[in-house]
Parts: sequence; C-alpha cells; structure tokens
Amino acid sequence: MTQLPQCVPLGLAPSFGFGDRIGLATPGHVAAMKRSGGAIEPIFPQQSIREMTRTRRTAVQVMQDALQGAVQAGWTGRIGADADHLKTPADVDVTAAAGFTFFTIDPSDDVDQKADNYNESTLREKFATARDDAPWFDGYLGKGIDLPTGSRIELSEQACMRAAVKYGAAIKRALAMGDYIRQVHAASGKDYEIELSVDETDQPTTLAEHYIIADQCLKGGMKLVSLAPRFIGELEKGVDYKGDLQALDASLQDHAAIADLIGPYKLSLHSGSDKLSMYAALARATKGRFHVKTAGTSYLEALRVVARHDESLFRQIV
Ligand SMILES: [Zn+2]
Repeated sequence: MTQLPQCVPLGLAPSFGFGDRIGLATPGHVAAMKRSGGAIEPIFPQQSIREMTRTRRTAVQVMQDALQGAVQAGWTGRIGADADHLKTPADVDVTAAAGFTFFTIDPSDDVDQKADNYNESTLREKFATARDDAPWFDGYLGKGIDLPTGSRIELSEQACMRAAVKYGAAIKRALAMGDYIRQVHAASGKDYEIELSVDETDQPTTLAEHYIIADQCLKGGMKLVSLAPRFIGELEKGVDYKGDLQALDASLQDHAAIADLIGPYKLSLHSGSDKLSMYAALARATKGRFHVKTAGTSYLEALRVVARHDESLFRQIV
C-alpha cells in the first residue's frame, strides 16, 4: 500500500466537501477539482456518522478509501477531512482517531423545530423552562446590530426569547461538544477545526439567531471556522434550490456579514449537490469565505453507472 497523505485543517480557505458513500468516487472528485477547483480546497473524506452506520463503513475505511482515491488520481494539494454531523463524544473519538480534521457539530436534536410557530403566550411559557439553558439572554436583550448590508438585527425580547427556546439547549450541547473536541486534540497534539451545523431543521435560522449562536460559540472558546445555518427556501439533496433566489441572495449577504463581523468564519452550505443557482451567490456574498458540502449527486451518478452496466445489481439496490 502506498503511503497516504495526512489531512489538515483548511482554515478560512474556500472549500468544497465531496461526500462519497461507496468509497469509489474520489478519482472523479479529483478530476472535478483539477478542472474547476481554482482557489477552492477539497475535503475528500467526508461522511456523517449516520451515513457510516447506514453503509456499514468505519471512519478508518472512509478515510482510506478517499485518500487512496486521491493519491491514485494524482492529487498533490492539501486535503481536509470532515467528520460530519457529530452528535456525541463517542462520534468525536472514532473520527479523531481515524485522522479527521474538520469536526462538524450537529446539535439539531436539541433544536425546538416548532419555535417559529409559537404565539406570544406559548413562547413565554416555553421560555420559562428554556431560560436555564440560555444564561446569555440578558446580555443580548434590547441590543441592535447594524450590518454593512444595511440590514439591522433587532435583539428584541421576542427575538431573544425565541432564540432561547429554539436554540438554547442546542448551543449548550454544541459548546460541550466543542470543549470535548478541544480536549481530545490537546491530548493528541493534533490540529483541528470546527463547523457548527444547524441546517437540518424545519425552520430557517434568523439573523438574530445566527448572531447569538455564533457569538456564544466564539465566546465559549470554540475553534469555529464554519457555520451552516438553516437557509431560507427548500434545500433537498441532489436537486437545485427551490425558493425565491432574490430573497436568498439578500439573506446570504446578511448571514455573510455576521460571519465577517464576529468571526471571521466561513458560511457553509449543506445538501449542496446541484445547488447550481446558489453557488455564485454564496461565493459573492461571502467573498470566497465559504464551504459547500455535497454527496447526493456522487451517489446518484454511481447508481446511474450501475443501472447502465449491471441491471441485476441495480434491481437489488432499488
Ligand atoms: Zn448537513
């Protein structure tokens, strides 16, 4: 076996993640990078714990398959490695041991997915219990932040209460995970970086919520290089963006302005496969400080190959 390269943190460089459920697609990803990567840096090993469980692959296998594919296809540049959608300290242990460098914390199990629907009295009721998880509440109350885009974030009582109800417990969990990741790497002496993702929720992340989440993570000492809010509109894997592109553009600019103001950190787009109408807007709004995660299209392309060349295997799969 050839010597495999070590993955490294990519910092604030524009980056693109190529998830590959079957462990065979990396040479294609390398070809895409060579053809159109430009200043973008790749994350070839990228898999969520959920996908590893589904595909019965270990973190070590995911790492080796991707790196072997990269070497075989002649990639000589830097490579990041995304341990995606981590939910527990055990998830951190296995992926850190396998050499992953980009740790995506996903506290979405603790996000109140219905928070935007609560009327004022329900919100106050929910807030009474959520308050313990949101010690930051008073610190933001009544403040306003003017963004260079011309938008203003009003941290009104309503906005702060909703942020506490929706994300209070999630922020607490994210900070605990971030702390654990820091300890693991302090012990191993290796470098790392963190993305926080709250993209897999029903309701969009408001600007006020983005501001509070990121500010709390940074103040809590998290090595945050990337944040994936839940953007407006519909983001399904493997198909283009569904929604108002003009509204999305304005929203991306505001989110990017927050990332610039209190970070800097990258804005991350998940379920990024085939979001062709979003890529340019994201790159423009963030001035190149972005991360995109894809996987869906690589899997669909693999299925297409199977369908064309091995009908009986295709029947087994579907
Ligand atoms: Zn995601």
